[in-house]
Amino acid sequence: MAAVTKMTRFRNEDVIPQDALFFDAGGSTYHTHTCPEGETHKWLCNSPYCSSLKTMCPDHGGEEPVKIGREPWRR
Ligand SMILES: [Zn+2]
Ligand SMILES: [Zn+2]
Repeated sequence: MAAVTKMTRFRNEDVIPQDALFFDAGGSTYHTHTCPEGETHKWLCNSPYCSSLKTMCPDHGGEEPVKIGREPWRR
């Protein structure tokens, strides 16, 4: 059974020259997080609400970045 994955592979070599994990939060600018799980790896996201770039990715049990339009403080 495949593991549940919340992220997609980001294949835009103009932005990052590798198959990076990418969390689509609906934003338009990207930044790179460093997941400290095991051998650290980088992952991209485009949420405008991230406050730390050293966070576990959602696939390793980290919190999902806040998605545009789903802000919990706007309910
Ligand atoms: Zn982020
Ligand atoms: Zn990770």
